[in-house]
Amino acid sequence: MPELPEVEALAADLRERAVGRVIDQAFIAEFSVLKTYDPPLTALHGATLGGTARRGKFLDLSCSPADGGAPPHLVTHVARAGWLRWRDELPQQPPRPGKGPLAFRLRFADGAGFDLTEAGTRKRLAVYLVRDLADIPGVASLGPEPLDPRFTADTLAGILADRRTQIKGVLRDQKLIAGIGNAYSDEVLHAAKMSPFRLASSLSAQEVESLYRVMVGTLTEAIGRSDGLAASDLKKEKKAGMRVHGRTGQPCPVCGDAVREVSFADSALQYCATCQTGGKPLADRRMSRLLK
Ligand SMILES: [Zn+2]
Repeated sequence: MPELPEVEALAADLRERAVGRVIDQAFIAEFSVLKTYDPPLTALHGATLGGTARRGKFLDLSCSPADGGAPPHLVTHVARAGWLRWRDELPQQPPRPGKGPLAFRLRFADGAGFDLTEAGTRKRLAVYLVRDLADIPGVASLGPEPLDPRFTADTLAGILADRRTQIKGVLRDQKLIAGIGNAYSDEVLHAAKMSPFRLASSLSAQEVESLYRVMVGTLTEAIGRSDGLAASDLKKEKKAGMRVHGRTGQPCPVCGDAVREVSFADSALQYCATCQTGGKPLADRRMSRLLK
């Protein structure tokens, strides 16, 4: 799933390619993808793509209607198995619903456009057309942006204070901090040499300060790597830039120990025991429960 750095790069890529282009039509190929009905998608016809932006893991395309009315926002949240693919020339035929991974298509008047695709059977990719970003509940409830200059070590301290939950869960909770998901929370905690199971409230002021610096550094570095890449190359780049996430069994680039995996919430997390937990593997709660 694209997280903050990749969505930032998607917004930059689309800004370069598509801002100023006139929209011809939006197509729904997977019925469940569109989460709003007012304004209707037909409101996009003849509108000019005015700008692109990111909020959390949401990609926001602001469109200026031909009649000069209020610009609606075409917003998408690319889920775990979803992706955006730019195409210089889209097929003339409208897509047939329910065939293959295509979920949504936006076509510009010059024939170019992009597809939103989602592999697998669990369809979670979402598209919204709204007058105000805050009309999307998932956007309205987002926590602060970690790379916003107003987000300081004190902001992070405020988020962690009295929170008796594991730091891994806090970092990827969109309502607390916007844009960090399963992958970058693994990476941030590895870079901070911190156990993902540490209780958020147990961090010392010094640890919060260091976690803050590492979080900003990790995200900024990832944005730097993605900068200038086309949408189609982002997934590969994200994977290649990971030190522990998705690398179970491979050597930790810092100490050489094998990267380990433990179940967490609805999925799994990866970490290095030598770097993060004093060499002691984390107990897999799901597993130990099963064994009891
Ligand atoms: Zn290590």
